[in-house]
Amino acid sequence: MFAKPQPSARLIEIFSAIQGEGLNVGTRQLFIRFALCDLRCHFCDSAHTWQVPTLCHIEQTPGRRDFETHRNPVLLPLVLAWVDRQNQPGLHDSISLTGGEPLLQTPFLVELLPQLHQLTRLPVYLETGGHRPEQLGTILPYLNSVGMDIKLPSVSGENHWQAHTEFLQHCHDSQVEVFVKLIISTTTKPDELERAAELVAACSPGIPVFLQPVTPFGYAQGKPLETPHHLPLLPPTPDQVLDWQALMKRHLQSVRVVPQTHKIIGQL
Ligand code: SF4
Repeated sequence: MFAKPQPSARLIEIFSAIQGEGLNVGTRQLFIRFALCDLRCHFCDSAHTWQVPTLCHIEQTPGRRDFETHRNPVLLPLVLAWVDRQNQPGLHDSISLTGGEPLLQTPFLVELLPQLHQLTRLPVYLETGGHRPEQLGTILPYLNSVGMDIKLPSVSGENHWQAHTEFLQHCHDSQVEVFVKLIISTTTKPDELERAAELVAACSPGIPVFLQPVTPFGYAQGKPLETPHHLPLLPPTPDQVLDWQALMKRHLQSVRVVPQTHKIIGQL
């Protein structure tokens, strides 16, 4: 008889920080950032996550950025021990599974999440591109909240309308807390915003939607953000933001405009 192999993960980092986006903005989270992403959004500020690095960075003291390094892949008991070391009483509001795309590592998450719950009793929040409904289904019972993107083709270069529809419906059916985030820039096409609003409203008009202007000081792979046609990705004008929020509010109850606040306050 062979022993069952220990599940392992490809990680970028584990660290404690203030969440800067979406419904949990301003809360303190323990971030587990997974390597690998199958999308290539033009506005990506995490292009370093697209491949698996040889080493991952593990913070030793919450918020101090005193990282130690470990070789990928990492075994599950080590991940639990690193989380336990960071989990000071009362400090964190929740644990954030982020990336990259965490749903590319669901076999590991299926093993990790029940043990994470036993260890910390903290709510678990998934940050995802919102395009992998099948993988979501395998870990939904262990999640407390989900922040999913709807990728607007005119801004992201990605096109996943059907997958987003199924993904949101899964979340809604399971009664997990869910919100939707859309990155907007001067290149955003209003008809895509309308389609996104209709998609969310068809599931439930009460689902909160966040319009997030692209961060002007964001860079992908060391270069200014731009489309493949070398048009710069710039934040929308004040008039565009006002018009687009109004457009979406014709379909939805809650449409908020919130930029990436962690970058404004100098959080990594
Ligand atoms: S889904 Fe996220 S990590 Fe992946 S390319 Fe898009 S912005 Fe980057």
